[in-house]
Amino acid sequence: MDKKYDVIIVGSGPNGLSAGIFLAKKGIKVLILEGSETLGGGMRTTELTLPGFKHDICSAVHPMGFLSPFLKTLPLDKFGLEWIIPEASVAHPLDSGEAVILSKSIEETAKQMGVDSSTYKNLIHPFSKKINVLLKDTMRPLGFPSDPALFIRYGLKAIQPATLFAKSAFKDEKMKALFAGCTAHSILPFNKLFTTGIGLLFLAVSHEENWAIPKGGSQNLANAMADYFISLGGEIQCNTKIDNFKQLPEAKKYIFDTDPIQLATIASDQIPLWYKQKLNKYNFGPGVFKVDFALNDPIPWKNKNCLKASTVHIGGSFEEIAQSEKEAWEGKQSEKPFVMLSQQSQFDSTRAPKGKHTGWAYCHVPNGSSKDMTQIIENQIERFAPGFKDTILAKSSMSPKDFQRYNPNYLGGAITGGSADITQLFTRPVARINPYSTPNPDLFICSASTPPGGGVHGMCGFYAAKSVLRSIQN
Ligand SMILES: Cc1cc2nc3c(=O)[nH]c(=O)nc-3n(C[C@H](O)[C@H](O)[C@H](O)COP(=O)(O)OP(=O)(O)OC[C@H]3O[C@@H](n4cnc5c(N)ncnc54)[C@H](O)[C@@H]3O)c2cc1C
Repeated sequence: MDKKYDVIIVGSGPNGLSAGIFLAKKGIKVLILEGSETLGGGMRTTELTLPGFKHDICSAVHPMGFLSPFLKTLPLDKFGLEWIIPEASVAHPLDSGEAVILSKSIEETAKQMGVDSSTYKNLIHPFSKKINVLLKDTMRPLGFPSDPALFIRYGLKAIQPATLFAKSAFKDEKMKALFAGCTAHSILPFNKLFTTGIGLLFLAVSHEENWAIPKGGSQNLANAMADYFISLGGEIQCNTKIDNFKQLPEAKKYIFDTDPIQLATIASDQIPLWYKQKLNKYNFGPGVFKVDFALNDPIPWKNKNCLKASTVHIGGSFEEIAQSEKEAWEGKQSEKPFVMLSQQSQFDSTRAPKGKHTGWAYCHVPNGSSKDMTQIIENQIERFAPGFKDTILAKSSMSPKDFQRYNPNYLGGAITGGSADITQLFTRPVARINPYSTPNPDLFICSASTPPGGGVHGMCGFYAAKSVLRSIQN
């Protein structure tokens, strides 16, 4: 019997859309089913506080999206995507009133690092000068790298726990603080293997380009991907939450842009018990608590250079940031959490009414935590920007439980598809030669719970779609 669709994808996040685009380009008939009323998964933008203030609900800043080996091959500019490149990637304010600025120029960045100035250049330059090769070799499932020498050079450092690496490599407190902020994107305690790899990668990509934001918000990246997918013959149906496999139209193959637990539940009678048990044992790691602000003024940073960056890493010293990440992992609530902040309206006037601003800030908290962190986040910002609280016109908070309600993939508020420690980094969601496949030859998973993991880059979807294509053609 002829099936109307070759492939059905459940979920329209960056990975679902990437998988759809890859397959539609090959002439495969694809339908994407999305549970929410809007498409885009972690790439949605809406007015959460006051009319005219556009807030990114999830992702805001896209160093990996901008440089993604797959996304950058797509003609998304022809479908309305406009990247905005800020003056700097990251500002990292310190209690002394100084701020470290991470920007495209490796010289400018290095010269702030005191005695570690040449250490920084010697460490990062070999990676930043070949960043596109390094990203190709790291943003993928385990396999033979295209540049083995570079990969080994990176791997020998990457594998180290960040605590150990910072101690042996750096002397300067500013250097250590900047490294800590970049490492905290791993959402892991710094004594875990491979935490150095995340810190180094975020530093290295910054010297290719300052961390980009999509004009108008992340929703415009989602819309451009969706419009391109539709132009290739793909179809998307929103408001279609899948709870049971029987709801799915007939197709040759199914791809789940969902977390492993949902895959185990929805496809319960399609996969063997042993595989289901493994999916159900998946570890999600800490959650997040987020606050969006409508602001009357730009954030009044003590150090005005902080206004140059799309992202501000708030948390002070290496030790303080390491402590807060350790606490979130161990189920404790930090009173001084590391806060990631984005001030998109500083670079994009479409985000807020004239003269007004948006602020996007979150911290890592224990998975499923119900503690309201709004005040604590505000206190951390106020610490480096006295008067911040007086600029707030309105705010909207989201707890880990709100995130899970908003998107069932964010179990307990975990936003990057599950913890990326050594037990799950390469073997997510289950250890298999092809991690995108399942024991059922017609079922695949493509979400951030597969390699290379969290973030908006579409590489999980790209590699999942490649294996689906192979299985259709065989
Ligand atoms: C607060 C926050 C901040 C973040 N900041 C950044 C950032 O600045 N930069 C960055 O790169 N990344 C960031 N991320 C992470 C990034 O958003 C995710 O890693 C990424 O979106 C994962 O993509 P995905 O395609 O795997 O899944 P998702 O984006 O989660 O998309 C999955 C889609 O599937 C749908 N879905 C789920 N279950 C079902 C079902 N049963 N039936 C139908 N539809 C279903 C969901 O509604 C959703 O639309 C952030 C995330 C959050 C929450």
